[in-house]
Amino acid sequence: MTAGTARQTYLNYINGQWTPSSTNQTEPSINPANTYDIVGYVQQSGIEDLNAAVEAAGRAQPAWRKLSGPKRGEYLFRAADVLEQRLDEIAETMTREMGKTLPEAKGEVQRGVNILRYYAGEGMRSIGEVIPSTDSEALMLTTRVPLGVVGVITPWNFPVAIPIWKIAPAIIYGNTVVFKPAQETAVTAAKIVECLDEAGLPSGVVNLVMGKGSVIGNAMAEHPHIHAITFTGSNDVGKTIAQKAVARGAKYQLEMGGKNPVIVLEDADLDRAVEATISGGLRSTGQKCTATSRVFVQSAIYEPFKQRLLARIKELTIGNGLADGVWMGPCASQKQLETVLYYIQKGIEEGATLLCGGRRLDDGEFGTGFYVEPTVFENVSPNMTIAREEIFGPVLALIKVETFEEALALANDTPFGLSASIFTQNIGKMLTFIQDIEAGLVRINEESAGVELQAPFGGMKQSSSHSREQGRAAIEFFTAIKTVFVKG
Ligand code: NAD
Repeated sequence: MTAGTARQTYLNYINGQWTPSSTNQTEPSINPANTYDIVGYVQQSGIEDLNAAVEAAGRAQPAWRKLSGPKRGEYLFRAADVLEQRLDEIAETMTREMGKTLPEAKGEVQRGVNILRYYAGEGMRSIGEVIPSTDSEALMLTTRVPLGVVGVITPWNFPVAIPIWKIAPAIIYGNTVVFKPAQETAVTAAKIVECLDEAGLPSGVVNLVMGKGSVIGNAMAEHPHIHAITFTGSNDVGKTIAQKAVARGAKYQLEMGGKNPVIVLEDADLDRAVEATISGGLRSTGQKCTATSRVFVQSAIYEPFKQRLLARIKELTIGNGLADGVWMGPCASQKQLETVLYYIQKGIEEGATLLCGGRRLDDGEFGTGFYVEPTVFENVSPNMTIAREEIFGPVLALIKVETFEEALALANDTPFGLSASIFTQNIGKMLTFIQDIEAGLVRINEESAGVELQAPFGGMKQSSSHSREQGRAAIEFFTAIKTVFVKG
C-alpha cells in the first residue's frame, strides 16, 4: 500500500494503516528549486494522532521484542530490497523535496539500503558477554534488552539516511518506533515507511506522525509512554528535548550542529586540500552537520590556496538538482535561504572581506528557487558571528594562521565539536591533531564531511549528547544492559 493518493496527499502511518490526521489539515511540501512544484500535501497532525501512534507502538512492542533477532533481521533485509528497487524514484522525490543533486540523493538512498542490511545482520550478532566470576561455580554474563517505545525526530538534510540509521537499530534490538520527520521532507519520509510496510513489518512496529516540531516533536519529548528519544537537528531544539527527557527519566540521544574546521598546513597537497574544502564546505549547499565552515590556512600557502579555491568555485554549476551536470542545488527552504543571507550580511557588517558570492540567485533560470551563491570570506576574526555560529549554507571563512599550534587552538575555540580535518604530510602533526582536536570525527587528508555507516558517528562538546549513532555503537543507546549472575 502507498501513502499517497491521486491528490498526492501523504498520510500518517499508525498501527499499520495509512491514516489522515485528526485535524484534517495538510500543508504543501514545496520544491526549493521551483516553488510552483508541489511535491505532495503532508499531514499537520495533532496530539491525538501522536497518542494513537504511541499507543500502537506500545501494543506492538511485547510481541516484537519476543521475536528473535535473526527473525527481526529478515524484515530489514526485505525492506532493504524494496528500498533498492525504488531507489531512483525515492531519490528523485528527495531532490524535488529538499534540493540536493540527484547523484547525491541516489547515493543517500543507496546508503539507506546498506544501513538496513547492516542492521539486519546485527540481528544475528552477539548482544552480551560472559565475564569471569570469582565464584568458579557461577556464570556471570551480560545481556541486552530493548528500551520500549523509541521516538525518532529527524531533520530535512539527510531525509533518508538519518531516519534509517535511527529506525533500523531501534527495531533490530526489539524496540518499536514513533517517527516524526522534518515537515520539509515528509513525503520522502512517507516513502521510507512505505518500504517498511511493503516489507511486511508487523503493524505498530514503526509509526509515522507528520507535523510541526513545536507540536508533535515537543509532545514526544514529554510523552510518558515514549521511553527514549533519538533526535538530530539544531542545538536549541536538542537542549529542550534533553531537559524534558531528563525531567521524566527518559533516555535521549542528540546529534546537533557543527562549526567544523579544516587546517591546511604548508606541506599539504594543495589541490587535494582545495578539492576537499570545496566538497566538504559546499556539497549539499553546505547543509551537512559535518560541513566545513572554517578553513585555517598557513600563511606561506595562503595566497595560492585562496586563488585555486576561488578559481574552482567559479567552475561550479548551480541549478536544479534534477538536471544533468548540476553540482550544487538550492537551499532546502526559504527559511534556510534567509538564515544563510542573514549570516552573509552579518559577516559583511562585522568587517570580514567578501571574496566571492554573497547574493541570492533569482534571475533567469533560478526563478523562484531558494538559490544562493557559494560564498567565501577572508579577514575573519575568531569572535565574528560567522566564525562562531553554525550557518548551514555554502559559506566558507578563510583564516590565515602562522603555525599549526595557532590553527589548532583556533579550531578548538568553538562550543561545537563534530568533525575536523587536517591536510599535512607531517606524521607528528597528524598525531597531535588526532589527540588534541576537540571533535568526534577526525579526518586526515580528507574532507570534514563523511563517515562510513559501520563506524560510530557523533561529536564532542555541544555537538552531541555523546552516545554514538551508526555501526555497532548504536547498541549502547537502543538497549539496556542486564548483568546476570547464575548459580546452580
Ligand atoms: P530543527 O532542530 O529545526 O528540526 C529538527 C527536527 O526537530 C524536525 O523534525 C523538527 O520538526 C523537530 N522540532 C522542531 N522543534 C521542536 C521542538 N520544540 N521539540 C521537538 N522537536 C522539534 O533542525 P533542522 O532545521 O531540521 O535541521 C538543521 C539542523 O540539524 C542543523 O543545526 C544541523 O547541524 C543539524 N543536523 C545535525 C546532524 C548531526 O548528525 N549532528 C545531522 C543533520 C543535521
